[in-house]
Amino acid sequence: MCFHEHVHGNQEKMGRIFSVNLEGKIYSCKHCRTHVALMDDIVSKSFHCRHGKAYLFSKVVNVTVGTKEERMMMTGLHTVADIFCVRCGSIVGWTYETAHQKDQKYKEGKSVLERYKISGPDGSNYWASHEAHVGGSDAEDV
Ligand SMILES: [Zn+2]
Repeated sequence: MCFHEHVHGNQEKMGRIFSVNLEGKIYSCKHCRTHVALMDDIVSKSFHCRHGKAYLFSKVVNVTVGTKEERMMMTGLHTVADIFCVRCGSIVGWTYETAHQKDQKYKEGKSVLERYKISGPDGSNYWASHEAHVGGSDAEDV
């Protein structure tokens, strides 16, 4: 009866990776070069993670969002979720769902990319000295 419910678009989507191509000064996944953010969308470069520098972006693309969790950071309690490259699945940073402190609300809906996980617009890589210690991505902004 319900022929119209037989959607075959699904099959087409499954084999393909949905990725957006950005234009301009692009930050991309270090591993697979998938575009993840634009330099123009940087809100702050004064973030830190366990591996060094991290940047706050107003928007990122081509990422999948992991499980939300409460994380206590230097600036208070935040609800965050790790974000992963849509193509290779490597963790690239985290996104802020909720900031529990009023003065941190500006972070909500924004995402942090760990600098050593991404390549810069000029193709530069930033290598952390202790890359082996891959763990959580604690935000510690100054
Ligand atoms: Zn990737």
